[in-house]
Amino acid sequence: MSLKNLPGAREEIEASPWAITEPEAWRGQWQSAFPEVHPLHVEIGMGKGQFLTQMAQAHPDVNYLGIEKFSSVLVRAVQKQEVLVLPNLRLIRMDAENLLSVFAEGEVARVYLNFSDPWPKERHAKRRLTSENFLRRYDVILAKEGQLEFKTDNRELFDFSLESVRDHGWRILAVTFDLHHSELAEGNIQTEYEERFAALGNPICKMICAP
Ligand code: SAM
Repeated sequence: MSLKNLPGAREEIEASPWAITEPEAWRGQWQSAFPEVHPLHVEIGMGKGQFLTQMAQAHPDVNYLGIEKFSSVLVRAVQKQEVLVLPNLRLIRMDAENLLSVFAEGEVARVYLNFSDPWPKERHAKRRLTSENFLRRYDVILAKEGQLEFKTDNRELFDFSLESVRDHGWRILAVTFDLHHSELAEGNIQTEYEERFAALGNPICKMICAP
């Protein structure tokens, strides 16, 4: 069975109060989707939700939204949240291509990209979540002091991303090529992929950048 086709996943997501089924309807008023008003942090390509559920537990003063394009993957995060019932976490099944239909100008305080798909072929470069194609979208939705944090073990994708961000006129606020042995390790919450690749001995790269 393909990972993209898990019977019942879409229905389970739609039935969950933690998944937002019509995200466009919340554009410009995401704060009303949460019980308390806090800065909004968004993870794009959240996978099964380990990072975001732990972040939401560690930082109750932040509202977290997780975005994932496949129901078969997102449903695992939904199931975690059904158990954890974190008031500051909501989940959306959507493609990041549609960010501008879902978030108003300056609505997002921080974007997290973790172990994003590398799309190694040059003709697919526009699909990389750190390509100019997406940086232009983040420019719109990020707040004035907004930031983007990106982690990956894929050095080629990381080097591409550093160049992409610089070429786009953004500032690199912090960078490491070995996160787990750097100052940035403090408070680091590992994603599913991060645990897997770090266990293989791969160094993890991280950058924090801002428009
Ligand atoms: N962030 C998780 C981690 O670090 O364990 C998952 C990493 S996985 C390699 C990348 C995830 O991003 C996949 O679940 C994929 O479906 C999702 N993804 C890729 N492109 C996306 C897009 N344009 N919009 C939403 N999700 C996307």
